[in-house]
Amino acid sequence: MNTVERYDKFLTPVYPMIPIEIVRGLGTTLWDAQGNAYLDLTSAQGSTNLGHCSPAVNAAIVRQLSTLTNHYNSFYSPLRAELAERLAGVAPAGLERSFFCNSGTEAVEAAIKFARASTGRKKILAFSNAFHGRTMGALSATWRPEFREPFEPLLPGFSHVPFNDLDAAKKAISSETAAVILELVQGESGVIPATPEFVRGLADACRAHGALLIVDEVQTGFGRTGAMFACAHYHLSPDLLCLAKSMANGFPMGAVLSNAQVSIAKKQHGSTFGGNPVACAAALAVLDALHSDRLIENARDQGQYFLDRLRALNLPLVREVRGKGLMIGLELKQRPAPYLAALAKKHILALPAGVNVLRFLPPLGITRQQIDSVLDVLPEVLA
Ligand code: PMP
Repeated sequence: MNTVERYDKFLTPVYPMIPIEIVRGLGTTLWDAQGNAYLDLTSAQGSTNLGHCSPAVNAAIVRQLSTLTNHYNSFYSPLRAELAERLAGVAPAGLERSFFCNSGTEAVEAAIKFARASTGRKKILAFSNAFHGRTMGALSATWRPEFREPFEPLLPGFSHVPFNDLDAAKKAISSETAAVILELVQGESGVIPATPEFVRGLADACRAHGALLIVDEVQTGFGRTGAMFACAHYHLSPDLLCLAKSMANGFPMGAVLSNAQVSIAKKQHGSTFGGNPVACAAALAVLDALHSDRLIENARDQGQYFLDRLRALNLPLVREVRGKGLMIGLELKQRPAPYLAALAKKHILALPAGVNVLRFLPPLGITRQQIDSVLDVLPEVLA
């Protein structure tokens, strides 16, 4: 049996499949089983911001693998301590404490639990088009009916109001609200940035009612938008910050950072693998490399160049070009699947988002020449 036949027989078919078998990656390049090279504008769904097989991260992982893989969480770990301190140093003000887990959905689960435990309240407000993950708590905050409905009843106490509609949000926030959760740039639903007024108004309304503000930076974090965290673009310090994806550059890791408004008692939460020394070593290497390789500055500069050039192309099929840094969406007048396939034929891999958005999440080290090579083929591909 070949790989496709094995998939058909042995894999739970939850993913719509693309007929490319990926076997190797380095930097911005992926190779398929036939040896074809592709420019990767997916970064493993935003989880390898440093590029594939980052030498620094891989070296840290290999070193730690032969030292210690995991231990009981009640023993002290110097790497976990160091990572938590480093995160507190780069996170928005006040987010001093880290809880470590293994994925984005787990980070959101933890944030929901921490918010309920801290406030003694049950209600969580989320927004239209939000994506926060697929486990039952995170799914309760996720918006798309086709993701939610087969699994109802979800958690009680969750509601959604239109994204970027401050009046609707203000009406929905009360003294019963435990937390408001949002993405600052909605990723999965099509790269939709929150407006500054909306974010400022939400933060004020939360403060006025004693509700906590949870920002989900699973996709926007670690340099993706041209800042370490998208919170910086909004001068925002939330109460809880959810992180994952590129935190350990593709090695599974997540975290929830929290401020002094948040409290959780011993034994009320935990994770066997969360904050294991290998993941922590990888995450420390990520923080170092983002800085030493000036990747966040590159994401900001190349992102702006990419956005400006995409807008200037004025392609008839493109309704809107949106984005921040290297998180870029082209809202098309049609569904993106055939255009993604046409791009792949040109050896460029990109992502769908929402209903009709073509999304680029390139590694943060992408060069201007590589961006130009994409711009060169887009008019033909999107014809
Ligand atoms: N939150 C956001 C904003 C995401 O983009 C995602 C994943 N696309 C998640 C949460 C869930 O992350 P994971 O797939 O690691 O559970």
